[in-house]
Amino acid sequence: MNWLEDAANKFGNRVAVVYANESLTYRELNELANQDAIRLGKLPNRVGVFMDNSLDSLRLIHALMKRGIEIVVLNTRLTKCELVKQLVTVQVDTVISTVELELDNMSVLFFKDMNSEEVEINTAIDEHSILTIMFTSGTTGNSKAVTQSYKNHFASHQKCQYGMEYDQFSKWLMVNPIFHISGFSILIRTVLSGSTLIIHNKFNAEQVINEIRGSRVTHTSFVPLMLRRILDDLDVYLDSLEGILMGGANTTPKLLRDAIQKGLPVYNSFGMTETCSQIMMIKYTDDHILAGAVGKVTDHIKVKEDGTLLVKGDNVTTQYLNAEIEYEGEYFNTGDVARVDDGYVYILDRRQDLIISGGENIYPKEIEEIVAKYIGTRSCVVVKKQDDTWGEVPVLLIDGAPNRIIEHEIKSHFDRALARYKHPKEIRFVESIIYTDTGKISRKLNQEKYIK
Ligand code: ATP
Ligand code: MG
Repeated sequence: MNWLEDAANKFGNRVAVVYANESLTYRELNELANQDAIRLGKLPNRVGVFMDNSLDSLRLIHALMKRGIEIVVLNTRLTKCELVKQLVTVQVDTVISTVELELDNMSVLFFKDMNSEEVEINTAIDEHSILTIMFTSGTTGNSKAVTQSYKNHFASHQKCQYGMEYDQFSKWLMVNPIFHISGFSILIRTVLSGSTLIIHNKFNAEQVINEIRGSRVTHTSFVPLMLRRILDDLDVYLDSLEGILMGGANTTPKLLRDAIQKGLPVYNSFGMTETCSQIMMIKYTDDHILAGAVGKVTDHIKVKEDGTLLVKGDNVTTQYLNAEIEYEGEYFNTGDVARVDDGYVYILDRRQDLIISGGENIYPKEIEEIVAKYIGTRSCVVVKKQDDTWGEVPVLLIDGAPNRIIEHEIKSHFDRALARYKHPKEIRFVESIIYTDTGKISRKLNQEKYIK
């Protein structure tokens, strides 16, 4: 099994990748990756990879895939201490880097400088082999080392292709970090479909808009924050776009509606590192997206009576390296709570964020979505606080200077739109809301910081 070789055979003269001023066809990329695979020399079976969004990183990944080496994908925003801790957890002592890096007690090899000649290429790679190991975002305070096999990645691509319809004539823009599944999965989709991968080193709304117009990008993937920035800057119709996959975190119905109104073909989705990107998706043309649905109930999706969201499928991981997977029969327990309405799935919240107040369930996300309409560009988060009378109560945190008008507006809206027991018991303006490295608001970290 050699995905790049297959692509070179089928789509040899098509453009595989565009990065800055460089571009390579599938044939050229494959030849380079063959040379790189040898150049890397003797390596352990599992290595860490520290990479930026660049052509070198793409070459490195393909070279390692040709060698059948397990790739521990490192988050470049972590501190050295955190990186070493993750590497120790997954028993890795060798890291290959496409950017400058030093780590204590690790052998760090700079990709460009590797120059070996004696090595045997392992071409017999089984679909159950591990392709990547990725750590979850740590939003719940417990980062898991997820193994993702070739089969998992392949199945994830198939699912995505079924929903979004891309092929060798498509152009995918990668602006999400390549070390995160949302970025990495674009690499996989392009090589498996023979489409073109355009890589941006970092996200810049203006550059993204120009790229989409100039290169006639057809597909991309954003996190909500990126979509918001694009919408703020957008004053033209991006007619080449066929699909924008939204993922990683909750995209509010308002944001989805704003995007659709501006003609952006957004697909809402639900996914996890454990599902190798999206496992549910819904198209902009389906009206249920306007209410925030993430997809339909299928054989692969089960929502239990208490809301627990269970999933299964070939794209779902079968192993954590540092924890036990929680199964319910043959289904993987996501730890998220969902609701089903008219056959469509709506994500309510994470099981551990659920606030149980006087026996009633309160979903912080529901409150946050209401508040979002009144706070402009500020962000907000609802966290739980222990309470002698109610057990737990919600507290609303809003970043920025105190503002009585906003507070008043929010409160009067709560009176109209939210059952009394769900009302935050306190509204606090705080200096800054904490985000995780992948751009998600962490309820746990904010709760630890602001609630005593
Ligand atoms: P950790 O598992 O370390 O706490 P994490 O769960 O945030 O971190 P990821 O694998 O990056 O790590 O994210 C998956 C989670 O993101 C899902 O379990 C879910 O909570 C959230 N998520 C993904 N898509 C959506 C969505 N459309 N709406 C709401 N939440 C979503
Ligand atoms: Mg998780």
